[in-house]
Amino acid sequence: MAEAALAILKDKFGYDSFRPGQDQIIDKIMNHENVLAVMPTGGGKSLCYQIPALMLPGLTVVVSPLISLMKDQVDALAENGIPATFINSTLDYQEIEHRLQMAAMDQVKLLYLAPERLDDERFLSELSELNIVQLAIDEAHCISQWGHDFRPSYLNLMNTVHQFPSQPVVVALTATATSKVATDIMARLNIAPANEVSTGFARDNLSFQVVKNQNKEAFLLEYLKLNPNAAGIIYASTRKEVERVAQLLQHKGFKAGMYHAGLSEAVRNQNQEDFLYDRLQVMVATNAFGMGIDKSNVRFVIHYQVPGNLEAYYQEAGRAGRDGLPSEAILLYQPSDLQIQHFFIEQSDMEPTFKTREYLKLQEMSKYGNTEGCLQQFILKYFGEAAPACGHCGNCLDERDQVNVTVDAQKVLSCVLRMRQRYGKALIAQVLTGSKNKRIKDEHFEDLSTYGLMKGQTQKEVSDLIDFLTSSGYLKQLGGEYPTLKVSELGGSVLKGKAKVLRRGAVKAKRTVAVDGDL
Ligand code: ADP
Repeated sequence: MAEAALAILKDKFGYDSFRPGQDQIIDKIMNHENVLAVMPTGGGKSLCYQIPALMLPGLTVVVSPLISLMKDQVDALAENGIPATFINSTLDYQEIEHRLQMAAMDQVKLLYLAPERLDDERFLSELSELNIVQLAIDEAHCISQWGHDFRPSYLNLMNTVHQFPSQPVVVALTATATSKVATDIMARLNIAPANEVSTGFARDNLSFQVVKNQNKEAFLLEYLKLNPNAAGIIYASTRKEVERVAQLLQHKGFKAGMYHAGLSEAVRNQNQEDFLYDRLQVMVATNAFGMGIDKSNVRFVIHYQVPGNLEAYYQEAGRAGRDGLPSEAILLYQPSDLQIQHFFIEQSDMEPTFKTREYLKLQEMSKYGNTEGCLQQFILKYFGEAAPACGHCGNCLDERDQVNVTVDAQKVLSCVLRMRQRYGKALIAQVLTGSKNKRIKDEHFEDLSTYGLMKGQTQKEVSDLIDFLTSSGYLKQLGGEYPTLKVSELGGSVLKGKAKVLRRGAVKAKRTVAVDGDL
């Protein structure tokens, strides 16, 4: 059997050998064992069910949320002489019936479906009459409420799996699953624990970097100037910010497009095409952009604002370097941006327990922004994988000198205490720099011993220091819309002279490693 699979790999797909995990997954499927495949993006998940689809006597149904990719996948299969089709919301009723007929008559080997199809009882019953021998579930983390991209339609998959009289073998595939999510997927889809095949999450060609508390615009412009031939995606959290950044870049002469759910479908499609065919160098986008983007030469993914959790971050960052060449994933981290995600959670109609969980995930994201250890190791640990330091992320390579800023830190911390830990960054910076505005007078802050203590510095410099002290855990930020600052335990020991505060200089933008001739 292994030989038959290898022959198909060569004849139909033109590859000489299997990638790690592929043959093992195919073996299990051919043994009629349900399996969970966890492989990084670009690891080659599709072949794991496409090859069995050709060997099994019947139809393979592939459930995938990537509607825009379905047609491409089906076309690519057709080019290799493999009959396949798809059914999604872009088709009318007659066309859907026609395609189901083709499947019933054994004229296709693979049928791709959008998960929403499975919400339709009538469609389901038509489907269950087909001779479905394999059910592949792409982006399987969407089935778990613990995952970051839960989709209720995916829950219907469970019933679907148990409804089909043909009892298909089930293969679930994902590139992003914490061990909790993996366990959840396996329980829901009846996959034995021994049948999880994971090749790990590490993307060795990605270099992670966190640029903390720096002028984001200046960094971005410098980076793009240094990398004129590199294609990249810039993610921001809100439509408004996407538009602002895209316009800024266009204004500066960069070929930048934008993508968010507020744009018409025609505009989105046009921009996406322009990016795919390298007519645009960068795409500034919300997280609406990505699912379904199969552009292999993306050299960098820059997060202009921090995303809500590490799963989303890793998935978005992972869109860089699908071709295996060195690429960069840069997070422009500013603690104040966490408030936007905080707000999204607050505003959502999630149940309280889910909200709490999302807040905790957001805290992990902020720890990522603050860690001085290996960034790749941090992410892999989050996904439950032990790994050595990568040796090539921003932290592993950090050679900036550290400056001792303990005295300034003590000034800030004691001012926060004297202001009774009830105010936010702006006012604290104003008090420390001796501002004379009305609020300061009204609240009698001029009488504090810390008033004007940092007169020689600008409010911006003091604000930046406060951000640094917050992101490094010396200050704690509390509250939603107007966060107040409190001194943490660590901050307390700085005040007592028991801990030093060291701060690194600014990170400079640099050229990515593999850029020449890309565009
Ligand atoms: P994933 O879905 O895991 O992100 P894909 O299935 O899209 O990844 O595969 C990524 C790329 O790797 C595709 O271009 C695919 O043709 C290629 N690929 C898959 N398996 C192999 C293999 N055994 N040898 C060489 N290339 C492969």
